[in-house]
Amino acid sequence: MATGPQPFELRDNDANILAHLGDDYERYEGAVIQPIFMNSLHVTPKDQMDDQQRRRFAYGRVSNPTVDLFERKIAALEQGGKALAFASGMAAISSAILACVKTGDHIICVDSAYGPTRVFIDEFLVGKFGCEVTYVVGSDLSDFTDNAKPNTSLIYLESPVSMTFRLQDLRAVADFARPRGIRTVVDNSWATPLFQKPLTLGIDLSVHTVSKYIAGHSDLIAGVCVGCEDLMKEVHRVREFYGCILQPMEAWLCIRGLRSLGVRLKAHQSAALEIAKRLEAHRAVKAVNHPGLESFPQRELAKRQMSGTTSPLSFELNCGNAEAREFVKRLGWFNVGPSWGGFESMVVVSGEGSLVRIHVGLEDVETLWNDLEGSLDKI
Ligand SMILES: *Cc1c(COP(=O)(O)O)cnc(C)c1O
Repeated sequence: MATGPQPFELRDNDANILAHLGDDYERYEGAVIQPIFMNSLHVTPKDQMDDQQRRRFAYGRVSNPTVDLFERKIAALEQGGKALAFASGMAAISSAILACVKTGDHIICVDSAYGPTRVFIDEFLVGKFGCEVTYVVGSDLSDFTDNAKPNTSLIYLESPVSMTFRLQDLRAVADFARPRGIRTVVDNSWATPLFQKPLTLGIDLSVHTVSKYIAGHSDLIAGVCVGCEDLMKEVHRVREFYGCILQPMEAWLCIRGLRSLGVRLKAHQSAALEIAKRLEAHRAVKAVNHPGLESFPQRELAKRQMSGTTSPLSFELNCGNAEAREFVKRLGWFNVGPSWGGFESMVVVSGEGSLVRIHVGLEDVETLWNDLEGSLDKI
């Protein structure tokens, strides 16, 4: 029956990769989508016992055909040599970092990187393994060039960053780092593999939480890391020994998520831009942070390195923290929660000040705006 995956030739575009890469998996009785391989083990035919090395699949902690199909799609989308899927975004992030640093190395990291990424660097790498870290804003190239030291081995980026949506110039940072033997890793979760392809700009590793847009339905936790084959061999070692490979059922759901990623992102993009513009025009709003707005300070850079924008955005209200909290409590359609990327709209408010972050979901955009406007009008 099944002959297993054949090498995939890139067809025209991302949309075809999302849906059709993997069509070459032979499917039982013409099943329209690929099967799920829920097995922990692939046995060796006796006539191949002496040729074990050539076997792509043997044990489920190392590789699995369903996980492999998801990885091939991500590698094709990001134009990288190899992608590896993980049990969470954090597993992908910490494995990528561990593949790049050793005891005593210095890391430069953007200061508003995802919170747990910072805790991992501070408590594990600095606290236990004698690494050093310098946190930088990252919107100026000099943040990196001024802080590099002889023992700098990693520049960790997140563009755009989650609360302020500031960008780093990925090509410029990569051009600085690469000749010095400094690795670059970027958290590409906000833009997704559709709207930003960091490897084409010279970045070494692109990492994602798949739990957000790629899976897309707020129903699973997953992550992925993509880069050139050589460096990904190191990442694979980490994944193998930490045992943090993505499980087949989740991988199969991620493949399902990919099929609709293009249409979902288009809807998130236009709804978020519409809401961002209306927020900007409201008297109770001091400023809106969204890389798709003409007023965004790094709009030119955003256009240069991203082909689209997604929906998490933030805004500052013309009031204090207590009133910002009341604003959030009055909202009906926005649930309070730190995650994003699913159907449901979300909101979080900063501990101090009046910065509010929303994820514009796939509900009716007029309904969402009425909700926001109704609460804004009371400020
Ligand atoms: C959620 C998130 C992560 C972590 O992903 P998990 O799948 O929850 O481990 C990493 N980076 C960003 C930007 C995130 O929003």
